[in-house]
Amino acid sequence: MNTKILRNLAFTIFTCYATLAVSASPHWSHDEQATWWAIQDPTQNVPLNYPFGECGIGKHQSPIDLGAATINDSKPLSKLAALYGTDTAPVFFNSGHGVQVNTSTDYKGALMIGEESFPLIQFHFHEPSEHVVKGKNFPAELHYVHINEDGRIIVLAVAIDIGDENPIFGTILENTPHEENGKNASAGIQINPAQLLPADLDPANLDYYTIAGSLTTPPCSEGVQWYLLPKVITVSAAQLEQLKGFYTNNAREAKDLNGRSLLSSQ
Ligand SMILES: [Zn+2]
Repeated sequence: MNTKILRNLAFTIFTCYATLAVSASPHWSHDEQATWWAIQDPTQNVPLNYPFGECGIGKHQSPIDLGAATINDSKPLSKLAALYGTDTAPVFFNSGHGVQVNTSTDYKGALMIGEESFPLIQFHFHEPSEHVVKGKNFPAELHYVHINEDGRIIVLAVAIDIGDENPIFGTILENTPHEENGKNASAGIQINPAQLLPADLDPANLDYYTIAGSLTTPPCSEGVQWYLLPKVITVSAAQLEQLKGFYTNNAREAKDLNGRSLLSSQ
């Protein structure tokens, strides 16, 4: 097959995929989170016409109230290591729901859980935090999203408090487009996502809480394992205002534990 045919084929496949992706994802917003489950996709038949049904009927949904959970620290847990390193070509992405950074396709950064490696695909921010402690939010929350070749999703979450200015957070805000779905891939800026981890934790051996959960945005798919760090990072009050200039209240409310407990590495 010559190059031209291959390119045409690739274009056709991409176009089909893009069309499918659009038809499989009706519009949603955080304002209407109580009824995400009821959003219909008129292009699909029963039962696929409720593509976000899991948001309503799921029993292992995220986020949760950490203050309401029973903490089990007696189980031996795997070592957690965030081996991120510098990405030389990150893409600054306004996802339509939040400020996000997509790692480049040849980025090698990954989260190691024991011997298993989960490549870092993107990281993004919520304002205020999604996970709460006894009903209380933090000002914001960072989610590192990892997916391995089997499609297993691992999210590492870090609470964000107000305090010292955060230089890497500033770089991200300055380079993220303000228009929905805008992408900035040509900034020529290098980012090391590890610089957003709490400075008082060892990235090669992180303390953590872990719990089975879901995506916190539609389709709210379960089977996502959450790792929550026990330390916070800070951004300045001005930086939080800058984040709110993109999206505010882009956080899902805490969901019932339904018998789940929180495992602690400490
Ligand atoms: Zn998130």
